[in-house]
Amino acid sequence: MNYERVKTLAHFDTAIPNAALALKQLKDDQIKVVGTYCVYAPQEIIIAAGAVPVSLCATKEEPIADGEKVLPRNFCPLIKSSYGFAITDKCPFFYFSDVVIGETTCDGKKKMFELMAQFKPLHVMNLPAGYASEADKAYWLASVEKMKAYLEAELGQSITGDRMRAAIRLLNEERLVMQELAECMKLDPVPMTGQDLLKVLWARNFVFDRQEMMAKVRLLIQELKAAGQQGQGPFPQGAKRIVVTGVPTGIGSEKVIKIIEEAGAAVVYLDNCSGMKQFATLVDETKPALEAIAEKYLLTPCSCMSPNQIRMERMEKIIKDFRADGIVDIVWQGCHTYNVESRVLRDHVQKKCGLPFLHIETDYSQGDVEQIRTRVQAFLEMLG
Ligand code: SF4
Ligand code: SF4
Repeated sequence: MNYERVKTLAHFDTAIPNAALALKQLKDDQIKVVGTYCVYAPQEIIIAAGAVPVSLCATKEEPIADGEKVLPRNFCPLIKSSYGFAITDKCPFFYFSDVVIGETTCDGKKKMFELMAQFKPLHVMNLPAGYASEADKAYWLASVEKMKAYLEAELGQSITGDRMRAAIRLLNEERLVMQELAECMKLDPVPMTGQDLLKVLWARNFVFDRQEMMAKVRLLIQELKAAGQQGQGPFPQGAKRIVVTGVPTGIGSEKVIKIIEEAGAAVVYLDNCSGMKQFATLVDETKPALEAIAEKYLLTPCSCMSPNQIRMERMEKIIKDFRADGIVDIVWQGCHTYNVESRVLRDHVQKKCGLPFLHIETDYSQGDVEQIRTRVQAFLEMLG
């Protein structure tokens, strides 16, 4: 099929390479930078503090050897890569971060933060083990309040209700734009690859002018809709439609998504923290700002929550909305929570939706690419 990639996607090819320079410019202009490692970190509060949030979640293999000099080798690659970048000062985003926000999500991350706090100003938010009870909600709200107080003290900026409400409106607008972008993947044929969708969603973490980012994404949406009307896309009509879920898989660690698409199936939705998880729900603008922010973030369907029923419920809706033919659940080696939850999700998806499910446990290396390719091809053949 003769497929021409829509024009505006080229902009996102360079968004991340250009980000270090853009961040340095902000630092030169005396803007504070707050590094985050997780979707639980409330970005509205960082923005309301007059600072720029930047994601430090590492997706490259190179720093892992340095991370392993300190951390156990059987930790997940995301933690080892993040820590390797931090101790070698090779990540400009970590280097430029005035302070870092961590959370007590999985055990590996929270113990890593103890080590990191020895050489970087760092605040760890305490996360409850569940999201449903009143005690869990009160515990998390107190955590969000403490984080706000920490940023006010560290950055010297009072975080008022008005500033938080403005940040909520801005990020809700951005979430709606990203939802509209994801909606384009409901078309058949899909107008772009899942790899390009990831590139745009991942770039969101590295474009610091949010209005500029939204303008570009809106332009992209127009082009994708036009391509859809002409029946153009990277896969033929009727190509198998795969929903990818599980651990964050950013640029540099997207090998499984690439393998799926090289095998001829379209990745139509990214149900993870490098994908749509952070954009899927809004902060309620009718409620008091801090409570509304706490409420939205606590409902992040991460496997560190026990039980994590919202992930199951949201997956049912995604499968229906995006007409999925199969689910691929990617889990990093050493990630116990996602690994165990894969069994729960498989049972749920098979029972409720009757959908085939492929669990892939891997790391950032390329050593198992051919083995994964064989499994993915067999899975797609099974879909028919
Ligand atoms: S998967 Fe969980 S721990 Fe990892 S970034 Fe997402 S919310 Fe945070
Ligand atoms: S992938 Fe799993 S082990 Fe790794 S940081 Fe996320 S939750 Fe923790």
